[in-house]
Amino acid sequence: MARAYNFSAGPAMLPEPVLRQAQEEMLEWHKSGMCVAEMSHRGKDFMSIATQAEADLREVLEIPDNYKVLFLQGGASSQFAMVPMNLLRGGERADYINTGAWSKKAISEAKRYCAVNVAATTEASKFTRVPAQADLKLTSDAAYVHYTPNETIEGVEFPYVPEVGDKPLVADMSSTLLSRPIEVSRFGLIYAGAQKNIGPAGLTIVIVRDDLIGQTIPGTPTMFDYAIHAKEGSMYNTPPTYAWYLAGLVFKWLKDMGGLDTMAVINERKAELLYETIDVSSFYANPVDPEARSWMNVPFTLAKPELDDTFLAEAKTEGLITLKGHRSVGGMRASIYNAMPETGVLALVDFMREFERKYG
Ligand SMILES: *Cc1c(COP(=O)(O)O)cnc(C)c1O
Repeated sequence: MARAYNFSAGPAMLPEPVLRQAQEEMLEWHKSGMCVAEMSHRGKDFMSIATQAEADLREVLEIPDNYKVLFLQGGASSQFAMVPMNLLRGGERADYINTGAWSKKAISEAKRYCAVNVAATTEASKFTRVPAQADLKLTSDAAYVHYTPNETIEGVEFPYVPEVGDKPLVADMSSTLLSRPIEVSRFGLIYAGAQKNIGPAGLTIVIVRDDLIGQTIPGTPTMFDYAIHAKEGSMYNTPPTYAWYLAGLVFKWLKDMGGLDTMAVINERKAELLYETIDVSSFYANPVDPEARSWMNVPFTLAKPELDDTFLAEAKTEGLITLKGHRSVGGMRASIYNAMPETGVLALVDFMREFERKYG
């Protein structure tokens, strides 16, 4: 059976070598007599999987020792609440940069816990660009600054890391973590739902500077307290063991690929090819400021929207699937995370050129 090129925004493709290894180890992991999904999370087999996964993630992202790495559940959406609950630390205000649908959700959740200062918003330009550093109106009493480095729906990515002085910078990296190297020490906290660029749904990664945790707001549920999860090695309760294991295989795969420097080169090349194909044609269009175009999520529209369904149907017969755009943006969206091979993007642009020739 041939695997399709799946352009889904999430849950998204996983690297084929990872799936093959998981398949090989499905019935029995390393002479344990069982599948990883059947193991006690506190047994030595799973502990070795968990420890290795964290070590590999730390290596790949070069995470400094004063950062905790947490393997949680609840998705990035739970982080919208956990961040203010843990990082306000007695403060009453936080700065948020609004660059798209996910920023907006983070902002509306934060408003349940504190005053939100919107330090910049690009809503007037329909989220087709990011604000310049000089346009950020940060407040002196903000407990932290939150932003979304890559907006998955609009396909807008910051080409820079905001400078926020001594405030902790919090980043929702759900759709960009591991796509390129980052300097973790510039952030107070990074979070990401795994189902885009890391592993299967059900796992949420949090990387947090250790001095920021342990001062939750009154009434914070135990499960929403980073300090508890850090103290318990993400095993205060039963963690998402199988997703943790698969993410660990992905971290190993990233190391085999040559790490994040290599991934960045490949990802930039994939994105450039796709944007170039869109830009040279008068049939396809992408509205995003070229400076802020996402490497991971590429929305585009057809000059004749009445052909959208034909485009999707014919793409599918070529093994190019899940290209339908988000309902709020329309058109198409090609998500091209780490696990999308370059051959997948090549096949897509070939198809797009042929489709334009036929119908354009
Ligand atoms: C998908 C996504 C979310 C929501 O993630 P869940 O894991 O479904 O809660 C939040 N932020 C960004 C940037 C996303 O891409």
